[in-house]
Amino acid sequence: MAAQTTAGTPLVRLSGVNKHFGDNHVLRDINLEVQAGEVIVVIGPSGSGKSTLCRTVNRLETIGTGEITIDGKVLPAEGRELARLRSDVGMVFQHFNLFAHMTVLDNITLGPMKVRKLTKKDAEAKGRALLDRVGLADKAGALPAQLSGGQQQRVAIARALAMEPKVIMFDEPTSALDPEMINEVLDVMIDLAREGMTMIVVTHEMGFARRAANRVIFMADGQIVEIAPPEEFFGSPKSERARDFLSKVM
Ligand code: ADP
Ligand code: MG
Repeated sequence: MAAQTTAGTPLVRLSGVNKHFGDNHVLRDINLEVQAGEVIVVIGPSGSGKSTLCRTVNRLETIGTGEITIDGKVLPAEGRELARLRSDVGMVFQHFNLFAHMTVLDNITLGPMKVRKLTKKDAEAKGRALLDRVGLADKAGALPAQLSGGQQQRVAIARALAMEPKVIMFDEPTSALDPEMINEVLDVMIDLAREGMTMIVVTHEMGFARRAANRVIFMADGQIVEIAPPEEFFGSPKSERARDFLSKVM
């Protein structure tokens, strides 16, 4: 399941990453190493830079200073190497971002055919296998609008997996879902984690963090304030800000 990676090298490394939007310093000297197979949960108040952090890892956002490497290779600002490295980083967004006019199966096969140069037949076989895996084998021919939010998000996860990414970034994947659909998505994510997928997950689902995270990152004001295993972080958060945040969300 887990894509081939280079032993010993952190799969994702951010060194001294800074990012401004105008005068707003939204990422402040971010240093982070994520090892292959790790699940990192990112929490923190709204506006603390969690989404921006996710988006910089595949250059949906540029950075000011610092460096990001994916499996040891520096993420360049543009060009073919960027396209290649970007395809190693899967993204799952809060609002699914499926192509509304395409069937579920076509949503999944598009990337592998265009970027990975799979034949339509191979891409469809793989797409159907992934749909089966997320429990949606019977939805290949449906349009996204015919699915529930939880089903659409599972399609989005299958679409990310179809590219065989080395890491998947999840930005609040269950925040737009009705409560009864949250678990069907989290269950798929927990399975992925168990199978060794490297994941960086922004979420307010503390139960998921406790069950699946190797480490929890607490962000505030663009900084990583704390980083610790979940039992340590939830059991004895060190900073006042983390204690305050946890008292509001738990
Ligand atoms: P979070 O995901 O933790 O809520 P974000 O990363 O979305 O935080 O936002 C961090 C800060 O960057 C906020 O102050 C937000 O207003 C600002 N920001 C985010 N995206 C943009 C953008 N495209 N243009 C200008 N400011 C932005
Ligand atoms: Mg966000």
